[in-house]
Amino acid sequence: MTSDQYTFDDPRHRYPVISPEVQQQPEPGLQSAMTPVPDLGEATYRGTGRLTGRKALITGADSGIGAAVAIAFAREGADVTLSYLPEEEEDARHVVEQVEAAGRKAVAVPGDLTSASFCRELVARAVEGMGGLDAIVNVAGKQVWQPTIEEISDEQFEETFRTNVFAPFFIVKAALPHLAPGSTIVNTASLEAYVPAPDRLDYATTKGAINNFSKGLAQQLITRGIRVNVVAPGPTWTALQVTRGVDPETLPEFGSSESPMGRAAQPAEQAPAYVFLTSAESSFVAGETLNVNGGMVTP
Ligand code: NAD
Ligand code: MG
Repeated sequence: MTSDQYTFDDPRHRYPVISPEVQQQPEPGLQSAMTPVPDLGEATYRGTGRLTGRKALITGADSGIGAAVAIAFAREGADVTLSYLPEEEEDARHVVEQVEAAGRKAVAVPGDLTSASFCRELVARAVEGMGGLDAIVNVAGKQVWQPTIEEISDEQFEETFRTNVFAPFFIVKAALPHLAPGSTIVNTASLEAYVPAPDRLDYATTKGAINNFSKGLAQQLITRGIRVNVVAPGPTWTALQVTRGVDPETLPEFGSSESPMGRAAQPAEQAPAYVFLTSAESSFVAGETLNVNGGMVTP
């Protein structure tokens, strides 16, 4: 195991090749009940002040990639508003503790992002709770595996779009009056945006939409000094995978068969990309998609 994210080790072996047992939970799932529990970087992420004084709103911040981002942001000096579903309170508490242990403010706002009015309330509570807002990180996502198009209910199709595409739209629109020049937005696409798995049709389509939305929005908002970028993760061990995100029978091979790296990522490995795109180091980067996928080829 690495000592922190700056250690020059062999990336193939930075985290173990996992072969998770077949396990399932109802959506959205609790990562604390997963085997193995995903690594959010609690023991390894070392902050160096790259986000000092930032006030960030992070969705999906209770678990997986969003939680790793919240911990990293706090250790880099940012206050954090965490968005998650009420059923995820237990996972969220763990992240709130980590943020507070880093000496930063944690504002917890449970609620359902498929509702436009909740998205607006979330932004208002972030601004109120942190005394401002200058970084948005949209990580929340819905992914439900269905082998055929007929098996995707109209409701699932709509909910997947509402969670993955509509919510970032609602949140960005509500946040803009508060975002001064120098603010940043980072959205979350996926390898699926370019390489759609046939059994994740609705999900993969939303990820293509997020990429496209972000590139258009980036051109619009750069005229106001706001940078928009995207992180596109590859296979990462998170609760999404054990809540029917993928075919449950494939869990023992999760990540190891598709990635040239020969293993799945841990959420801790996604966080530095979000830190980079939110920090001032990336001042000339806008409309970019940073692929964090273990070496899979993208356009
Ligand atoms: P995760 O289950 O840990 O996180 C997803 C979060 O989305 C949940 O914790 C939940 O809080 C939030 N969410 C879902 N529906 C919501 C709703 N209606 N209202 C409010 N919050 C809601 O899984 P993760 O893998 O960390 O997912 C984070 C993002 O990463 C997603 O956008 C996902 O598409 C993307 N992604 C993940 C992978 C991967 O392999 N894990 C790969 C590519 C992209
Ligand atoms: Mg969760």
